[in-house]
Amino acid sequence: MSEAKTHKITLIPGDGIGPEVTHAVIRILEATGVKFEWERFAAGAEAFEIHGEYIPAALYESIERNRVALKGPVTTPIGGGFKSINVTLRKKFDLFANFRPIKNLPGLATHWPGVDLIIVRENTEGEYVGLEHEVVPGVVESIKVISEKGSTRIAKFAFEYARKHGRNIMKLSDGLFLRCARKVAEGFPDIFYGEQLIDNTCMQLVMNPFQYDTLLLENLYGDIVSDLCAGLVGGLGLVPGANLGVECAIFEAVHGSAPDIAGKDVANPTALLQSAVLMLRHIDEPAAADKVQHAIETVYAERKTLTRDVGGSAGTSQFADAVLAAMA
Ligand code: ATP
Repeated sequence: MSEAKTHKITLIPGDGIGPEVTHAVIRILEATGVKFEWERFAAGAEAFEIHGEYIPAALYESIERNRVALKGPVTTPIGGGFKSINVTLRKKFDLFANFRPIKNLPGLATHWPGVDLIIVRENTEGEYVGLEHEVVPGVVESIKVISEKGSTRIAKFAFEYARKHGRNIMKLSDGLFLRCARKVAEGFPDIFYGEQLIDNTCMQLVMNPFQYDTLLLENLYGDIVSDLCAGLVGGLGLVPGANLGVECAIFEAVHGSAPDIAGKDVANPTALLQSAVLMLRHIDEPAAADKVQHAIETVYAERKTLTRDVGGSAGTSQFADAVLAAMA
């Protein structure tokens, strides 16, 4: 742990289960001994009510200044023409790489123990560019945008990660995205590189996930495969994520705001907590990251204080208490 450094972090608790899981995570982060100064902001519908803006200007400025944010889920109402806050932030800060490690935790019985996958999802293009219009009443045309620049930089990110961590790459996509990845692969002859169609991969992942290592995917495919892979290791309550760009990084769980369980103290904070572990590594606090990860694994191995999505009966705050006790 760096001696006196205080890390200024932008904090977006979000809505739905966001505030509950964020509260649990902050308690745990504060107990690592690392010094934090949180700059807390509302976003989405809550921010609109207070400030008249979905993303307040002060929130943008805070991320620009701090370069690191920890974010809970923010709801995007479906079909309301409401622009996703998550997508807007990723675009604004050009957070082109969505990094999602998928790994089993001890003590959780799953169909496949020992899964260890990395999802590298292109985070700014594809169907998420938000270009759609009604051609004639009742017919909407939605445009998927794939660029050479966007495809090349995410492929480079995946290959550089694979080289640094001794991993292989399986590329899942088509067209230009595929051609750009092939070109990048030529510069990484030491990395095993394979290609597969997305539909087949979904089946293969369920039947035998061990044939894969790092999965490089276009935006929408990455979103869908992330949820599939979350299911392999015990569900959305567990899987963390990082949105990475050249300047800034926003750490957030794969899951959404889960309105069905919001406000009941039953949500699993592990996904956001493991996102915070990625954040601790990013801000160069590896000892704190190891401490939290170790405590999470201890609590799972003991199986005494798990939330109900993973077969336990503990609440969000009880789970956080158990992690804190394991850190002490
Ligand atoms: P989005 O489209 O915003 O990503 P989603 O449609 O994938 O959201 P989620 O909000 O992620 O939906 O929830 C999907 C299911 O997973 C819900 O039944 C929800 O209760 C459950 N779930 C999600 N996150 C958690 C969590 N942290 N703890 C427990 N259950 C969760």
